[in-house]
Amino acid sequence: MIIYPLKFVKSVKVSFILTFIFLFFMASNAKAATAYSQNVPILMYHYIEVAPATSTLKGLYLNPKIFANQLQEIKNNKYKSAFVSELAKSLISKKPLASSSLVLTFDDGYEDFYTEAYPLLKKYEIKATVYIIINALDKPGYLTKDQVRELAASKFIEIGSHTFNHLDLKTLNNRKAGFEIVNSKKALENISGKQILSFCYPYGHYNDYDIKLAQEAGYLASLTTNAGFKHSILDIHTLTRLRPDSRRGSEFSKWLKMLF
Ligand SMILES: [Zn+2]
Repeated sequence: MIIYPLKFVKSVKVSFILTFIFLFFMASNAKAATAYSQNVPILMYHYIEVAPATSTLKGLYLNPKIFANQLQEIKNNKYKSAFVSELAKSLISKKPLASSSLVLTFDDGYEDFYTEAYPLLKKYEIKATVYIIINALDKPGYLTKDQVRELAASKFIEIGSHTFNHLDLKTLNNRKAGFEIVNSKKALENISGKQILSFCYPYGHYNDYDIKLAQEAGYLASLTTNAGFKHSILDIHTLTRLRPDSRRGSEFSKWLKMLF
């Protein structure tokens, strides 16, 4: 039997433990780096109407004719469309969406979604997920509750929550943030008659607590306004999006092509 000095045994033990910790972190980082991911552009739209001359938010408006042109390009290039919930399920199950899939999203639930966007989406058979501000429903310029119910019943439309009041979540206390994120899910399920599976942070603002609330509320995924198109389970509650802006024709097609 070999008797090692105590000091030596201790340092061997310490270096063994350090090596173990190092390997553990390496393994968990490797796991993070290799998390299953997919390139699926999530396009972000707001108003589908001609911007009023006096508007200071012209960037949020898209002329319906240009929107129709973008849908035509999506069809011509044989891209597939998916709902946000379908992207979430594919990230969770690690079963990829059909190749060249993209997701269309519309924020705020403006009236023009029903009058301009919805007829075009049906015509081109392209799916979209629409984020509703519950307390804006039935107000001038916004969708009505009846329209939301009709949209929710369409095979081309999915409804998501954009809170009750569209407040900046970063400025709210925990109780108020909980109400806006968690309670809006059930309320919108009652209005739409459908399960609400995704959430969209107003103004793209969120903090760690908001992410936790979105997870605990039972949403499968949450959307930000951060730019990007590669998604994995690690960012399922901070999904990135892209603005198609007023690109049209071959310019729009070339832009889309770069994303796959
Ligand atoms: Zn919004």
